[in-house]
Amino acid sequence: MPFPACKITVLGSGTSVGVPTIGCHCDVCTSSDPRDQRLRPSVLVSYEGRNVLIDTTPDLRTQALRAKITHLDAVIFTHYHADHLMGLDDVRPFNFRQKGHIPIYADEPTMAAILRCFPYIFDGAKKESNIPRLETRMINGAAFDLFGMEFLPVPILHGSQQIIGFRFGAAAYLTDHSDIPESSMEMLRGLDVLFLDALRYKPHATHSTVDRSVKTAERLAAKRTFFTHICHDLGHERAESLLPPGVFLAYDGLELEVEGVAGA
Ligand SMILES: [Zn+2]
Ligand SMILES: [Zn+2]
Ligand SMILES: [Zn+2]
Repeated sequence: MPFPACKITVLGSGTSVGVPTIGCHCDVCTSSDPRDQRLRPSVLVSYEGRNVLIDTTPDLRTQALRAKITHLDAVIFTHYHADHLMGLDDVRPFNFRQKGHIPIYADEPTMAAILRCFPYIFDGAKKESNIPRLETRMINGAAFDLFGMEFLPVPILHGSQQIIGFRFGAAAYLTDHSDIPESSMEMLRGLDVLFLDALRYKPHATHSTVDRSVKTAERLAAKRTFFTHICHDLGHERAESLLPPGVFLAYDGLELEVEGVAGA
C-alpha cells in the first residue's frame, strides 16, 4: 500500500506536568529559549487536506490556536493518562465548524477510560448545551485506514502497562514508553522520522531516558529521530548538542515534512 507524504506538527513536547513546571524556578523553567517551553505531548499529522490528531492533551485549546488548526478529521489515542486525554472536550469548536461527528480511535482500555472520564458525551441523554460529537472506533491491534493513510498500532511498554504508538508510512510516533518489545522493533524499520520518549537523564519506572532512547535510535536508524515527553532536566540547546548526528529534541511548533512511500 502506498502512503502519502505528510506533515507532522509538534503541538507539545513536554512531560505530563509541562515545562515550565508549576512552582519551579530552575534554569530550564525560567529559560528565555522558546524551545524550553513545552506543553503536554501531542502531534498533528496532516496529509491531503486531512488533519489527524494524536492525543487530546489538557493544553489542546492552546495548541490548536497556536498551530492555527481549522479542522479536525480524526483523533487517535496512545493511552488514557491525563496528559494525553483530558483536553477531549476542546474538540467542540471543530464540531461547530464541521457540523458533523469526529471519529476517535482508541484501544479497549483507553476507550473504557474515555467513556468513564466523559460520560456526558456518550450517555445519549438530551443536553441543554453543546457536547463533543464523537464516533467511537475501537483499535484492536490491526492497522486501520484513515483517509488513505494506514496507521499501524505499535505495542510499547509504559512501565508494566502496554500502550500503543503509531506507525504511519515512513514516520512513527512512540510517546510514553520505558521499553519497546522486539516484535515492535521489527515494525519500525526504514523510517524517515521517528519520535521517542526521552523524559530525562535519570532512570524512571515508566519512561525512557536520553541514553536509552539514543540506543533505540541507533538500532532503528531512522533518518531523523526526535525525542519528546521531555521534563525540565533538559535544556534544549545543551541537551541537543550532546546527541549523536540525526537525533534531535522535538520542540513545540516544530514542523516536519515526511516523505511518502511508493506502493509495492
Ligand atoms: Zn504522558
Ligand atoms: Zn524546573
Ligand atoms: Zn503515560
